[in-house]
Amino acid sequence: MNRLNISIWRLYRPDAVVAFDNPLIRNRLSWYYVVMNDQAPAKFHIAARLEVNEDYRSMSTEELWRLHDKVGEEFDKAWGEQRVKPRSSIIKSSLPKSSFLDVKIELVSRIIRNCNLCERRCGIDRTKGKGACMLDRRSRVASYFIHIGEEASLVPSGTIFFTGCNLRCVYCQNWDISQRPENGIEVDEADLASMQIELRASEARNINWVGGEPTPNLHVIIPSLRILAEKGINVPQLWNSNLYLTPEGMRLIIHLMDIWLPDFKYGNDQCALRYSVAPRYVEVVSRNLKMICDRDEDIIIRHLVLPGHVECCTRPVLRWIAHNCPRAIVNVMDQYHPDYLVPRLSRYRELNRRVTEEEMRRAYEYARELGILTSSPS
Ligand code: SF4
Repeated sequence: MNRLNISIWRLYRPDAVVAFDNPLIRNRLSWYYVVMNDQAPAKFHIAARLEVNEDYRSMSTEELWRLHDKVGEEFDKAWGEQRVKPRSSIIKSSLPKSSFLDVKIELVSRIIRNCNLCERRCGIDRTKGKGACMLDRRSRVASYFIHIGEEASLVPSGTIFFTGCNLRCVYCQNWDISQRPENGIEVDEADLASMQIELRASEARNINWVGGEPTPNLHVIIPSLRILAEKGINVPQLWNSNLYLTPEGMRLIIHLMDIWLPDFKYGNDQCALRYSVAPRYVEVVSRNLKMICDRDEDIIIRHLVLPGHVECCTRPVLRWIAHNCPRAIVNVMDQYHPDYLVPRLSRYRELNRRVTEEEMRRAYEYARELGILTSSPS
């Protein structure tokens, strides 16, 4: 046997090799699984081949959204058929002159001139200035690589880290990129397409859009998928996000992501305001999660247990998930450590410690009581 043929990730993450031997994981991530194995086309391929005959560029934005939602219903039908009987052969077919994906590209190019991609709703023209995410129209990538530290079913994950973020988490563990948008290299859609192609060729099971936060970068991400569709590259799209998007932002990506990896951090708005400056957090994130779960999409929800927040955050978050997203896999994470502003500012002293074993025991026990399927920790 030629030992050099063994991929490094298999040695470091044997749990990733056997992740889909678990029938529950296989069942709950069934769409992702078939796309990952090239047995079905990623959703963006379906969107890129749904023809639109209207002269959509001359429409008002309101008309364009109506057209989008109408074609969205056709998409759901086509996707539903693919879920029952996957047909990856469509990847080889050429693209129509105008498609559902093109409508999305047109919409997002208009939205960033009056940005409401996320619930900050800055309304700023990002071709002229920066929003609360500290980003103008330029997207920057801090790094992209094969990540072997994610949940077992996602490894090896083709991760693309954007700089900039719309939240202000005082304990952010990626603050050097989330709060420092200049710490990256400017990219356009062709660059993002090249990165995805390279990552897929390096055995990536998925393209993992993360940051910082990917949401402010949708105007570059969505056009990059058109390039992939043209080239016939198939790879599941994974949305690794704080999910603080508007309904408009969600409508744009709901037909493009094959698997979702959102955070659900807080069980009440006071904690969300204090630690992430995120008004209406519970309403926004639960609304977006419900949209995903009601469509029976594949999803792994991450909940980072914060010290002293098992009762006010962990319990209500897990309870909500059990009632509203019963098919979701949940990663109850223990890796919190004081970072960014927490060790520096005494007003956050209650977060200036690790989570105790007893707190994690209570969190896991509650998840078990609720019948939640938890993933192997990342
Ligand atoms: S992405 Fe959010 S924070 Fe950034 S400009 Fe748009 S609405 Fe504002």
